Amino acid sequence: MIQERVILCGNCNKSVPVVDVKYFAKFSGGMPIAMCTSCRNNLKLSSIKKKKPEVIVKELRKIFLCHSCGYKFRFNVLSSSKIKCPFCGKADRIAEDSEDFAEKLVRSI
Ligand SMILES: [Zn+2]
Ligand SMILES: [Zn+2]
Repeated sequence: MIQERVILCGNCNKSVPVVDVKYFAKFSGGMPIAMCTSCRNNLKLSSIKKKKPEVIVKELRKIFLCHSCGYKFRFNVLSSSKIKCPFCGKADRIAEDSEDFAEKLVRSI
């Protein structure tokens, strides 16, 4: 029989199998502590009560630049329609404007 490795839950101090433990910060900015499944569930329940309902993002408008005519425009990247320049109607030379460059870098990591 394989002996399961156990770890002490940082919340209730019970020994629980390592696979049942995940590290969790009790509050944002706090040090993460090892927590067993039941403690995590309790935490989730209490945080759900406090939490406001999640906002579903339907719009993410970014600035694009059409290199055919130099027209700058905002486009909702979450919409299902294809992006094209509202000025000249071309779609082949449109690039996200460099104002969003920093954000793009962060997301690509
Ligand atoms: Zn626990
Ligand atoms: Zn254009």
